[in-house]
Amino acid sequence: MDAIEIQFLKFAGVLEVVGIIGLAFLLAVASETFWDVFAVRRRRLGETASNAFIGIVNIGLEQTAFGLVFIIGLFLATPFALLEIPYTWWSWALAVLVADFTYYWMHRIEHEVRILWAYHSVHHSSPEFNFSTALRLSWIESLFEWLFFVPMILVGFDLVQTIIALVIVVVYQNWIHTEKIGRLGWLDGVFNTPSAHRVHHGCNSQYLDKNYGGILIIWDRLFGTYEPEGEKVIYGVTEPVNSINPLVINFCEYWYIAKDIMGSKTVGEALGYLFRGPGWGPEQKPAPGKAALGIEEKGKSG
Ligand SMILES: [Zn+2]
Repeated sequence: MDAIEIQFLKFAGVLEVVGIIGLAFLLAVASETFWDVFAVRRRRLGETASNAFIGIVNIGLEQTAFGLVFIIGLFLATPFALLEIPYTWWSWALAVLVADFTYYWMHRIEHEVRILWAYHSVHHSSPEFNFSTALRLSWIESLFEWLFFVPMILVGFDLVQTIIALVIVVVYQNWIHTEKIGRLGWLDGVFNTPSAHRVHHGCNSQYLDKNYGGILIIWDRLFGTYEPEGEKVIYGVTEPVNSINPLVINFCEYWYIAKDIMGSKTVGEALGYLFRGPGWGPEQKPAPGKAALGIEEKGKSG
């Protein structure tokens, strides 16, 4: 672990900048909240308080035990690296690009596999959308998400470079959780912007499972999941949580999965509830005017 610490110390400056950006963002959350209350745009503060509490606990966990799991998980993969990519300007640019690409697929899989959606849904379940929504991240996601970055280590990116590249991708996304910035022209088709990300948080049918990108929205255009902002976005999930209790928000989907599994008639059905999409069910639901097609997706929940 000493070796890891020495590596991180080399980039103490970068981590300090990230810390300053984090504090500035917390100030932005507080300022926006005060402004919304002053302008009577936010009448209830329950969702905001819940987001803030979930965010503070999450930061605490990621700075300690769960963050350590993330680092150790990737560290254990380092002996199996195929290459040794040096620290150069181009390797930093490439690392951020590859981390952003990896983030796209991690995020997409988290929406498409229900057992992973169970933790990612925490970020989506608020019916409100503002800077504080960026803080609403599952308490346990870092226990799973390191697995998606093992390929970066195996290709030859250094552990520290991989983690800093991921932090850049995540920190970038703070500012896009707002309704106060409208459309930004061509930027909305290249980068993940407030407009693109509002779509991602929408539960209108045409917005479900769209715009997974972290920094670049180009990945969505390449892989067929891009949707520009059109009609007014309705935020939240298709089956509302109806609670501001942080424990309910963090773990309710696991309870719903357990109930579905307990009601399963076959092992295949139980596995379907774990590994198929969030809205999946075994019952036949033919679309009007169409013949029954057997097992099908009922629709996603994002
Ligand atoms: Zn999402």
